[in-house]
Amino acid sequence: MNIHEYQGKEILRQYGVTVPNGKVAFTVDEAVEAAKKLGTKVCVVKAQIHAGGRGKAGGVKVAKNVDEVRTYANEILGKTLITHQTGPEGKEVKRLLIEEGCDIKKEYYIGLVLDRATSRVVLMASEEGGTEIEEVAEQTPEKIFKEVIDPVVGLTPFQARRIAFHINIPKELIGKTVKFMLGLYTAFVEKDCSIAEINPLVVTGDGNVMALDAKLNFDANALYRQKDILAFRDLDEEDPKEIEASKYDLSYISLNGNIGCMVNGAGLAMATMDIIKYYGGDPANFLDVGGGATAEKVTEAFKIILSDQNVKGIFVNIFGGIMKCDIIATGVVEAAKQVELKVPLVVRLEGTNVDLGKNILQESGLNIIAAESMADGAQKIVELVG
Ligand code: ADP
Ligand code: MG
Repeated sequence: MNIHEYQGKEILRQYGVTVPNGKVAFTVDEAVEAAKKLGTKVCVVKAQIHAGGRGKAGGVKVAKNVDEVRTYANEILGKTLITHQTGPEGKEVKRLLIEEGCDIKKEYYIGLVLDRATSRVVLMASEEGGTEIEEVAEQTPEKIFKEVIDPVVGLTPFQARRIAFHINIPKELIGKTVKFMLGLYTAFVEKDCSIAEINPLVVTGDGNVMALDAKLNFDANALYRQKDILAFRDLDEEDPKEIEASKYDLSYISLNGNIGCMVNGAGLAMATMDIIKYYGGDPANFLDVGGGATAEKVTEAFKIILSDQNVKGIFVNIFGGIMKCDIIATGVVEAAKQVELKVPLVVRLEGTNVDLGKNILQESGLNIIAAESMADGAQKIVELVG
């Protein structure tokens, strides 16, 4: 789960990680009010969306007085920002962070990520901050330094110091930087983060070390024990289809293709996406209705697939184990009646109560194309969608 920059900074503050003073604003008036309260000469008006690259896209503006804060807030609020992380459709800005302007001497990069290869949290840092770290990794990989963290010992001051030296933090600020990294690591572990990226970490003119940006990402499987993080969830930033699916406990992920898939079991869902690709098609979603789905759940799943305007055909691929084929068939028929099916529907059923399921589909009077196997079904739907 993602949160906004201002929320991330609130968390970091609790762990003694230095961040600039700032306030969230939902309206232009609130933005002006926040700037007055901050009382600093220079303020920064920052778009709050769940994507980076805002600066380049015009979503971060330095204001030299309250009038400029008003001008920039007016300009950014309600604007659709298109950055390299939003996709071509962009994201509408509904919140701003009004933050004290910082006298930046130099920008650095610091990130904590979970490295699946070593099963460890890794601290990454670079002297090349402010820019996209992916670019640094590609063009000058020698400028990125890493420390693999032992989960029993945690990040040690020695490791933090070594990184700070590698990225050429001024000698007199090494102590503050170490404290910063240790705080960041504690926040990462205690809050069940999967990513904590500070880009840029800055050294200021008056000798401070602070996080000017904060991108925190959380392990969704741990949210049951992170109620305060869950409270930061912003549904405006999420795909409405995925929100709907989560209400019914369906695993649904939107993709860019045009073939809707309804499958039971994550493994079969992955295989179904692969086989559609293999025959030249493109899946519109990943959807696992789960093992013990009810007809109602199947109906909802079907409706969610059809609410996607890009869907030009549906492939239902079910292996009835715990899930019975007649339940799936009932759900499909029910949903097709409720939403008026206009796109081709290919169904492949196998397993428990398969004959019962096939009968239900046949007698429904719906235009359903039966498939004999997974490959057959995939080929058929790819052909039909053209
Ligand atoms: P993004 O990564 O989405 O572009 P950042 O928060 O990193 O957004 O801001 C982009 C740039 O704007 C930073 O690299 C920094 O140079 C500048 N900036 C951001 N916040 C402040 C601030 N409080 N004071 C001064 N400059 C800032
Ligand atoms: Mg940034």
